[in-house]
Amino acid sequence: MSERRALGIDIGGTKIAVAAVDSAGRIHAQTSLVTEAERGFGQAVERMLAAGDEVLARAGWTRRELCGVGVGCAGPVSAQRGVIDNPYTLPTWSNCDIVTPLRTALGKPAYLENDADSAALGEWFAGAARGASRVVMLTLGTGVGGGVVLEGRIYRGVRGEHPELGHMPIAQFASEGDAAPACYCGTRGCLEAIASGTAVAEAGKAFGWDDSRAVLAACERGDANAARIIERVKRALEMATWTVLHTFMPEVVVLGGGLGDAQFELWRPAMEACAARATMVPVGSVRIVKAELGNDAGLAGAASLAFSEAC
Ligand SMILES: [Zn+2]
Repeated sequence: MSERRALGIDIGGTKIAVAAVDSAGRIHAQTSLVTEAERGFGQAVERMLAAGDEVLARAGWTRRELCGVGVGCAGPVSAQRGVIDNPYTLPTWSNCDIVTPLRTALGKPAYLENDADSAALGEWFAGAARGASRVVMLTLGTGVGGGVVLEGRIYRGVRGEHPELGHMPIAQFASEGDAAPACYCGTRGCLEAIASGTAVAEAGKAFGWDDSRAVLAACERGDANAARIIERVKRALEMATWTVLHTFMPEVVVLGGGLGDAQFELWRPAMEACAARATMVPVGSVRIVKAELGNDAGLAGAASLAFSEAC
């Protein structure tokens, strides 16, 4: 069998997606279920396995043919121990080992990654950064996440922790003399505290806007206050791009997440101008690209974990 097969699972706070994914990154079938973490972990694993059987049946595949199953999960997680530890969006699942029950039930290898890392891996495996050897992905959504993929492997820090790209400080460039917004990580002016959907919504509240979408719409109508908020995001992204280019010298910077992806053309000029100005970065060597896979990136990346090992 030249086409190898795996299950990919993407666990978020509200939804769990499960897909049958082949070794070219194609999704043959997928389904989703509500997370309802409070109903308990064991019960959720049973529902994930049932969803796995459902997508296998729809793809015309069997459990026996699988190389394995990969899980991308809203962090913090311990990828090395296969343990979820996210009290924020997955209450009652703290310290739950997800790898062992999946491995036991399926009789196949199981892997766990943080969702930002599995999305970055998915874009490398089957999306906007396919085949690139040095990839940095920034995800602008409710928060700001990121992942680094080097030679097809997720870059890990000490104790397997993943880099927190959302917490690079860029305040002096983004705040225009205002006090930089405080961040829950313990400092001020982080990328996440300025450029996340949450931060944009927070900045918009002072002017009566409810969420980041309303701020973007007002900006489009020419509202000066909204334009200032969006301009701060552009400058924050520009500074973040500068930092990422000089720290990692990547071939590709992928911008994803709801806010990054849908509004890519709004952010692209600032990011590309930054790459063009960077005299230490080889001319024309870096591509700034929009994520291609959307919500499927996590599924493809998670499944790809099963292909990178023995199978
Ligand atoms: Zn922070």
